[in-house]
Amino acid sequence: MNGKEIAEYIEKNNKKYKNEYGQFVIGNSALFVNIANAELSKALTFKIKEDMQDIMYSEQQIDNSFHLANQFFNIHKIKINLKELYDKKILEFFYDDNTRKNEFVSSNFGPTSYQEYTKEKGHSIKIVISNNLLDAFGIVHEVTHYMNQPEGPRNMVSDMLTEAISYGMEFIFAQSLINGNYKAEEAKLFIGNCILEMISYAKTMSPIYRIIYTYNKFGEINEKNYHKIIHNFDYESDVSEFEKYIQANRDYIRDTWDFLGRGISLYIYDKYKTDHESIDKLLKMNDAINVMSLDYCLKIIDINNPDELLCNIVNSFEKDWNYIMNVFE
Ligand SMILES: [Zn+2]
Repeated sequence: MNGKEIAEYIEKNNKKYKNEYGQFVIGNSALFVNIANAELSKALTFKIKEDMQDIMYSEQQIDNSFHLANQFFNIHKIKINLKELYDKKILEFFYDDNTRKNEFVSSNFGPTSYQEYTKEKGHSIKIVISNNLLDAFGIVHEVTHYMNQPEGPRNMVSDMLTEAISYGMEFIFAQSLINGNYKAEEAKLFIGNCILEMISYAKTMSPIYRIIYTYNKFGEINEKNYHKIIHNFDYESDVSEFEKYIQANRDYIRDTWDFLGRGISLYIYDKYKTDHESIDKLLKMNDAINVMSLDYCLKIIDINNPDELLCNIVNSFEKDWNYIMNVFE
């Protein structure tokens, strides 16, 4: 693939989605380049402690995970009835060893898979049981998607922010376990692994965003244009990463929901640690994502502009990593 072919691919990919989806990624590509760079530069200084690798998730029956998730929603006065979801077969549990699809998931993650709302199948949350704490995280994550699922397809803001909210809830749930001193080390391991996944995403996405940024700026992708705005990186190597990325059937629009969502979720978590009331703002944003603009929704959680978004993500990234690492000292 050369620059021209990639530009054609980007234009074709835009048409696959409603136009605003592609435009959002293209228009914000400079911001995404900055977020990925900042995360990766911090990641260089991180060392994963060997002790941390030794901690494993202990066995835990699915009933217990169900109970923990239920308790979490109740404590935070979130109006969701897990028992009812289960009785109505909206929430279902399965055993299956071969469902791991996400190659970016680190090895400590269990084989949980989910299926979101479609018109034909209605609401459906399928949790593949790992028989450990990850099941509880899986329930919290997916049921949170259910909480902001409209009766119909999501719009762009909804697609983008539902991941931020679901990951944010998982972090808050992890913190509740830590505060309650229930499997605190495993909860911290979970958070640590989520941060490692973020780094993995940043690694994958940074060359993609650099190429898209070049496209955004000049409409044409070539080495000369690339180097007008990108320094200290190699054009040919980024082009080859882009090609590999497409060959792996990855989709930069979907990946952006995750890339950005995970970043925002860490900020949500960071706020929660110092102010438990901040979950109210998260729930307010949860109610707004299907009807309000992205700017409006982010303002609810005190992010007022793209600079603040970048700053908040980068600061939280560093703070939370240090917080988790201290535990293993
Ligand atoms: Zn999700």
